[in-house]
Parts: sequence; structure tokens; C-alpha cells
Amino acid sequence: MRILKLMGAKGSSTVFLGSNLLEEILAFCKKDKTVIITDKNVDMFYGDKFSGFKKVIIEGGEKNKTSYTAWDIYNTLLKFGCERNTFILGIGGGVVCDMTGFVASTYLRGLSFGFVATTLLAQVDAAIGGKNGVNFNGYKNIIGTINQPEFVICDLSTLKTLPRQEIKNGMAEVIKHALIADRRLFLEIEKNRDAFITLDLLHIEPLIFNSMKVKIEIVSKDETEKNERRKLNFGHTFGHAIELSTGVSHGEAVSIGMVMEANLSISRGLLQPYELEQIKALLAFFDLPVEIHCHQKDKVMDAIMKDKKKEGDYIYSVLINGIGHAVIEKVKIREIREILYDMCKS
Ligand code: ADP
Ligand code: ZN
Repeated sequence: MRILKLMGAKGSSTVFLGSNLLEEILAFCKKDKTVIITDKNVDMFYGDKFSGFKKVIIEGGEKNKTSYTAWDIYNTLLKFGCERNTFILGIGGGVVCDMTGFVASTYLRGLSFGFVATTLLAQVDAAIGGKNGVNFNGYKNIIGTINQPEFVICDLSTLKTLPRQEIKNGMAEVIKHALIADRRLFLEIEKNRDAFITLDLLHIEPLIFNSMKVKIEIVSKDETEKNERRKLNFGHTFGHAIELSTGVSHGEAVSIGMVMEANLSISRGLLQPYELEQIKALLAFFDLPVEIHCHQKDKVMDAIMKDKKKEGDYIYSVLINGIGHAVIEKVKIREIREILYDMCKS
């Protein structure tokens, strides 16, 4: 088992990575003092391991990460008679972890909580960092809290039941962390890429660990996203616009967003064209898209124009100064349009 510590302003969080950790934490939690929040799929695969616990089962998927679902959970917590000393344990992917963190941080003005992250994306990204939000009126994570869980348990054994599409989504974030802060990790992922497909835990565990470490170190320096944490938005400024306007998955959108920002990095002389080819080859190996369909370009450009980070003719973008070094730069809308149109395939 590998352990990392994240220091937040209001408290710290311990992150554990290893195999068969779900069983260990369940054996440790007291049944009469714990409420489990999970979703239907995770309950179907792993529910028998937590029978006997009070549990709330939500509908999975980003579209259910709403204040309505929070409302339903509050109702159940009330019915269970939860008190100040009740512990809330979220077991699932990013949606379950976000809902758990948000509800636990607000119910009775804050209960202790922890996560067992069961998707690759949640393990390297969503479950780490203490941001817990719900979507509202079509805006992503617009209502939420920043509050660290007591612990985040990343149980690699649970990845065995995860659909291939979800592994792919997680790989986009694993690669993102390498691109913004760890060149060696990028080279290691290239070398061990088959191990991610076969889920050869022996080989991928150290790489997942290094990916998590990138996020933990950045959040420990800047929990509330004033500076350093903005680097984690690499691929996301344009990725969100792509996700919203074309309906592709989060990982797919981030993949295209990262290629856009890598192209912008080349036009600023920060990245070499051969490095972009290396990045695209790795993304494509994981079946992540690296181009955009021509008929979608105007929709994507419209969505970029509505971005809240846009300031006049500029958008603050995360560029890379070589693989492994992120820099924040102001980029002109005109430059973005040119890159987007160049990337189109018909
Ligand atoms: P994320 O935001 O981490 O991508 P979600 O919470 O949306 O994740 O989960 C993605 C999907 O995978 C959901 O349908 C969820 O129920 C399912 N899921 C989560 N963990 C597992 C697992 N270990 N095995 C199988 N399905 C899972
Ligand atoms: Zn993301």
C-alpha cells in the first residue's frame, strides 16, 4: 500500500493506494456510526461487501450530480437519524465522491467523510483535492464546498469491473498530470502503455501513484485555485466547451483540449512539433480523439466564446513549455480559432 498526505487549509487528507482496500476500510468502519453513499452500478458489483451498513444508493452519471439528488440524500440521512458523529463514506466514481463530499460538508453543518474511489478518473483526479460540487441549471459544479475528506482510498482492484470507456476517461487525466508536471511519468506511461489495457496492477500502480502525486502536490500549494491549481485545467478550458457542444465524454473532450493547447504551445515556440506527435500517439493509443470534426468547429468556437474565463479578446490558457512543464498564458481568441480550424478533419 502507498500513502500520501494532502495538506488543506482546514485540515489534511490521507490518500491510500493499493489493492483490496475496500474490504479493509469496511472492516474498520463501525456499522452503527457509518452511512454509505454509492450508486446503482457500484452497489451491483460491490454491495455484498457492505451489506449490514446503512446505505443511500443514488442514480449514477453526471446528469444526476444535482441539488435534487443532494435533497434526496438529506432526506435519507434525516430518516436514518444521523447525528454529529455519523461518518459518511462515499464508494464510487467522481459523481458519488462529489455528492458525498457536498452532502457531508453541509448536513448538520458538516459531518466527517471519506471516499473509496472506484474509477481511474476519481482515483487520480476527482476524489482528490477537496472540491465537492453539484451541477445546477446546466452549470457544472456551480454549488459546492472546498473541504478535505478524512481519507481517499484508491482501490485498484475495483478497476477490474470498470467499463473500458471509463478507463479511457481516466487515462486522459493520468496523461494530463504527466504533461503538466512530470516528464518522466509521460515516458513511463509510453513504455508501460499495454499494462494499462490489461490492468497489470504491478506495473501501473507506481504510475497511478505518480499521477496522483502531481495533483496532491499542486493542491497542497494552492487549494483554492488562485495560481498553481489552474495548471490542472490543462485541456479543460477548451475541453469543457467541446464536452458541452459535442456531447463527447469528459476524457475525450479533455484529450482534444490538450491537443489544442499543445498546438498553441507550438505556435508560441514552447513545444516542439515532434513532442506534439508523441502526445497524440499516446492519446490515440488509448483510443482518445486528437482531432475535431469540421462540422463541429463553429459550435465549439461558440462555446469557447461563452467561457467565463474569457476576458475581452483573450482567454487564460494552460500551455506546456516542453512535456512536463505547464505555464499559464493569455491567448488571443483569434489564435484559438486558427488552431481549432487547423485541427479539423472533414
Ligand atoms: P467519474 O466521474 O469518476 O468518471 P462516475 O461516478 O460518473 O465517474 O462513474 C462512471 C460510471 O462507472 C458510472 O456509471 C458508475 O456507476 C460506474 N462505476 C464506478 N465505479 C465502477 C467500478 N469499479 N466498476 C464498474 N462500474 C463502476
Ligand atoms: Zn477532468
